[in-house]
Amino acid sequence: MRHVAIIGSGPAGFYSAEALQKLYGENVRVDLIDRLPVPYGLIRSGVAPDHQSIKAVSKRYEKTALSPNLRFLGHVSVGEDVSIEELKQLYDAIILATGAPHDRPLDIPGSTLPGVVGSAAFVGWYNGHPDFADLDPPLGVASAAVIGNGNVALDVARILSKTRAEFAGSDIAGHALDVLDHSAIRIVHVLGRRGPHQIAMTPKELGELGHLEAAAPRVDLEDFPPEVDDALLEPGMRKSVTHLRSFAALPQDKAKTIDFDFFAAPVRVEGEGKVERLVVERTRLDDQLRSVGTGETYAIECGLVVTCIGYQTPPIEGVPYEHGRGRFANAEGVIGDGLYAVGWARRGPTGTIGTNRPDGFEVADTIAAACPPGSSGGKAGGEGLDALLAGRGVRPVAFSDWQRIEAAETARARAGSPREKFASIADMIAALGR
Ligand SMILES: Cc1cc2nc3c(=O)[nH]c(=O)nc-3n(C[C@H](O)[C@H](O)[C@H](O)COP(=O)(O)OP(=O)(O)OC[C@H]3O[C@@H](n4cnc5c(N)ncnc54)[C@H](O)[C@@H]3O)c2cc1C
Repeated sequence: MRHVAIIGSGPAGFYSAEALQKLYGENVRVDLIDRLPVPYGLIRSGVAPDHQSIKAVSKRYEKTALSPNLRFLGHVSVGEDVSIEELKQLYDAIILATGAPHDRPLDIPGSTLPGVVGSAAFVGWYNGHPDFADLDPPLGVASAAVIGNGNVALDVARILSKTRAEFAGSDIAGHALDVLDHSAIRIVHVLGRRGPHQIAMTPKELGELGHLEAAAPRVDLEDFPPEVDDALLEPGMRKSVTHLRSFAALPQDKAKTIDFDFFAAPVRVEGEGKVERLVVERTRLDDQLRSVGTGETYAIECGLVVTCIGYQTPPIEGVPYEHGRGRFANAEGVIGDGLYAVGWARRGPTGTIGTNRPDGFEVADTIAAACPPGSSGGKAGGEGLDALLAGRGVRPVAFSDWQRIEAAETARARAGSPREKFASIADMIAALGR
């Protein structure tokens, strides 16, 4: 028998568990540990609440979780409740699937002013992540700036622009829905340092912006290269750019505007004790398609700045870390000494949910090469962990406990919503009657 601990129950953790089960069959015991009492990582707390079909992938993970050789141990934080060194004594292999939950800082003057928030915090707030339930973003302002040209920036701009009715069927956190409903924001600027041909936005997400009830997207065709150049783009990107171009023809007759500012690099945030404006430098592309400043600046009056400029993995004591890239130091997923990394903790914050799947299968193969199926390492595995946690008064949340939390969230859902998430760990635990 082999014992594997997977730290993190997002997509990368679940794909790794699934791959281990396929390879080892009955000859493995997997403990899937998460610091939250609820599973699924960014599927629950990152993917937009109005994109329920994407969140449905968790049903596949549920199947993995319900298999007899896997245990979910929620509300156990590795690095706090138990150390990596302790896990190494107990398990044949440890897979770090902790994601990249911290915002990359916006490194410009004024970026610590109240009203500048990272997308991990903002997205976590509207998705009911317990770390961000108290964020209280300033939405009583007329204008917001969203920095970034990827899908996260589009999610944020869309959520800031939708009407209450448009959230029907979503599982947006109740506290966020009420605040968004009274938002005074009328213009959302989406800023990218480069141009329309350099965006990292996908067609579906861009297309949605053209059909919002109370908001219209706006672009300036002068920012675009000649239309014939679109033919050189790969098909997905070409479709995205076609959507963007089409926004120029939309009537600007709605209450809110999502304004795309291309060739715009933020240089400083200004304001008396809070954000009042973002100063931006116009850029151009050099022959390597990098953005370079032109020296010309302009100011965007805004009371909220949301940075969507990437994420990093928090270090864990005893695990080599690559500071420049904000992830665990690894070579193709191998950190060393029975320690592995998958998903965003391995690669950094890029790719879709499915991108994490090959990581899981690769790491399972690597572990099987070191610990052949059918062999035994003589480790104590989960029994050892249970004893250690019990000695510390840590009581893990099992998958059946999570199912009770989920049932309670479903039972208290507002009409038309699949669930009303508990946004604090205390409320999640209270739902278990503890
Ligand atoms: C805002 C946003 C929207 C997105 N939307 C989409 C989308 O629509 N479609 C799509 O395909 N992809 C989307 N993605 C990308 C997708 O969510 C990621 O590819 C995927 O979640 C990464 O998986 P992961 O398992 O590496 O990390 P995560 O999903 O972040 O999971 C990490 C898990 O580790 C746990 N953890 C962290 N530290 C510890 C610790 N010390 N101890 C125990 N547990 C710990 C966390 O609680 C979490 O559950 C989105 C990403 C973001 C940020």
